Amino acid sequence: DAYGYEGGDRLLIQFSQRLRSLAGEHGLSGRIGGDECTLYLPLAPDRSTVSQLEQLVEALSQPFDLNGVAIRLAIRLGYSHLGQTPRPAETLLQEAERALFRHRTESTLPWVAYSEALEAETQARVGLTQALRRALENDEFEVHFQPKVDMATGRVIAAEALLRWNHPTRGLVSPGVFIPIAEQSQLIGPIGEWTLRRACQHLRAWSDAGLDLVRVAVNVSLIQFRSGHFPDQVRRILDESAIEPQQLSLEITESVFARESTLLLEQLRALRAMNVRLSLDDFGTGYSSLLYLQHYPFDEIKIDQGFVADLMQRNFNRNLIDAVRRLAQALDAEIIAEGIEAADVRDELLAMGIQFGQGFYYS
Ligand code: MG
Ligand code: MG
Repeated sequence: DAYGYEGGDRLLIQFSQRLRSLAGEHGLSGRIGGDECTLYLPLAPDRSTVSQLEQLVEALSQPFDLNGVAIRLAIRLGYSHLGQTPRPAETLLQEAERALFRHRTESTLPWVAYSEALEAETQARVGLTQALRRALENDEFEVHFQPKVDMATGRVIAAEALLRWNHPTRGLVSPGVFIPIAEQSQLIGPIGEWTLRRACQHLRAWSDAGLDLVRVAVNVSLIQFRSGHFPDQVRRILDESAIEPQQLSLEITESVFARESTLLLEQLRALRAMNVRLSLDDFGTGYSSLLYLQHYPFDEIKIDQGFVADLMQRNFNRNLIDAVRRLAQALDAEIIAEGIEAADVRDELLAMGIQFGQGFYYS
């Protein structure tokens, strides 16, 4: 993008020359899409597949020279073995493509090989994606609520909306299974919007029924911020259901720090300016960057249940929770512990000065 079409073309030419020399006399190379190339590479009889792949990655990772500027490419590589089973070129390409797709989502590996297990996973994912597409139309989603509690008094201060998929034949599908698929397939946009709207409608119905539940919390995927218009969507849904912005809390996981962007930060600030509460979810599990933390307007930090569960057994966890408590204090944010499952854990947290909690102990 920075070097224009002409620069891109020159890079492609250099890349294809390198690919062609790797293919050698008996191999074949080609470009099959914008940034996708294919290479048919005969196995060298005296070398392992791994060493050949290593050499391939090494060669393609060497910088390209674009008018004196060294350009390095990030290579994603999926491959399939022809082996002893003859099959058409289309099939081989498709197999390599599936492996490549996996490498795009799991790029910490040096490459991904096609296998029967990968095929089965792909089929399952495709099937689940199709079913997920229909789930919204067929009204198969449900929102379950888990109360957030003031542990000293037992008073419910908010309720976290948890999305459940009630599949007609599979029963309840775990969000751990379908949320990643929704995120990969862009379905997270409409599903996230549905969840937000439904949670606000519930809060409205409870208020109308005279229940004084203060607030709902809704989990938000970072992908919902991609369009740049997420705050508008929130504003619209709040208006529709006549909910005050301070009655809504949006829970965002720590991956917010891994995908630093101005667009995201601007939207978070816009939401905060609207008086919507922002909550940092699953704290301590991922990408926390203390340096960035101060730039983000979080009202609440949620200590991940992984630290809370073993609180009584592990002194380390206790110290860590205490450190997070002080961190929250420095940021002027509230702190809430997730995953409280027993009275002794609740008591210990209270003694440590943690006021709010949620978990199976309560509901
Ligand atoms: Mg959450
Ligand atoms: Mg959580």
